Amino acid sequence: MDKKIYIVRCGETALKGDNKPYFERMLVQRIKKAASDIQGLEVERVDGLIFVRTPEDVPEEDTLKKIGRVFGVDTISPAKEINIEGLTGEDALTAIGQVAVPMMLELIEKKGIKTFKIEAKRADKAFPIESPQIARKMGAIVLKGCKVLSVDVHNPDCQLFVNVRRNMAYVYERKIQAFGGLPLGTNGKGMVLLSGGIDSPVAAFMMAHRGMYIDAVHFHSYPYTSERAWEKVQDLARILTLYTGRMRIFSINLLPIQEQIVQNCPEDETTILVRRFMIKIAERIARREECMMLITGESLGQVASQTAEALVVTDSAVTIPVMRPLIAMDKTQIMDIAQEIGTFETSIQPYEDCCTVFLPKHPVTKPKLERIEKSESYLDVEGLINAAVESAELTIINPA
Ligand code: ATP
Ligand code: MG
Repeated sequence: MDKKIYIVRCGETALKGDNKPYFERMLVQRIKKAASDIQGLEVERVDGLIFVRTPEDVPEEDTLKKIGRVFGVDTISPAKEINIEGLTGEDALTAIGQVAVPMMLELIEKKGIKTFKIEAKRADKAFPIESPQIARKMGAIVLKGCKVLSVDVHNPDCQLFVNVRRNMAYVYERKIQAFGGLPLGTNGKGMVLLSGGIDSPVAAFMMAHRGMYIDAVHFHSYPYTSERAWEKVQDLARILTLYTGRMRIFSINLLPIQEQIVQNCPEDETTILVRRFMIKIAERIARREECMMLITGESLGQVASQTAEALVVTDSAVTIPVMRPLIAMDKTQIMDIAQEIGTFETSIQPYEDCCTVFLPKHPVTKPKLERIEKSESYLDVEGLINAAVESAELTIINPA
């Protein structure tokens, strides 16, 4: 049976010098995994490109969706493959034309294109016709086969790419932009502090986009926070698994700590004290689970706990690096990404977060570290953290 073929370009992974083969091999693995439910899938690496083949009856949109979510994939072109082995230059172009002309006729019918331009590339220097000549000759063949078309080199309705490689030629007219980034697993593992909000899922996505595996820690205040709020977090994680693969969530009830803080510390410091506990607990679990960094969805100045002063006081609670990929982004930009990756609609469902349970009326916006540490001295910080870490429950979210 005939195969559908897709040319996948690796973008940034192609720039990695000596590491290039490693990145490309990783990418091939990731593509195979992301599309593993397609029976008869073939993924092959050839000279800096990746060729994906599926049986003819697998819908194109389905394949594009699956490959398009793989980090490290820059662009994808559904293509037609033409065997030109043993043909002379002219005969090869005629053979290519026999595929290119019907393709263009279909575009005229479906999209009403009127003008086109050929982009030719001769990757096999042994092929006797040079790229500009290929473009000219193919242009003539298309014009002859599609009488309604004319050439427009500046602003064509359609660009027809002709790629001549050894024994094989490829024609395609689309370059679909994917997420780019780096293949998962090329940059260690991080632990995201995952709430049910808009920001932290976007932060997790952005770090995974740079090749990082993601584990998550989630804090709740059950029974003040509901079972439904926890389900929402799992729903968000499930959406993220489309990009990150299987995700592990460590969930922790923060209520015992919040109660201690409320009873023993100044009310206006509640938020920052809770945040320091959260990040310390996350640090412990991250080290235990061999995560190299923490990831949060904080953005400078977004709320009282995210002023520069508050971030410094939060950070000084831990020694593990804390990544804040959204730090300099506006809420609207973050919301745009949330829309794009499909988490937004779930994030805006109105369920309570543990942070809102004991919200002080006037939280300090410029906390001083000495005062915060003084307040913590009224608490059994170590004991509370140990108990919290021990109580963590693991939930594994598998890709939908
Ligand atoms: P988000 O939209 O991600 O909830 P936010 O704007 O509501 O963020 P905060 O509630 O101040 O901001 O939280 C800042 C960051 O702290 C979050 O992005 C997340 O990384 C972490 N965080 C907040 N609440 C929780 C929670 N319940 N469990 C785990 N992490 C949390
Ligand atoms: Mg939140």
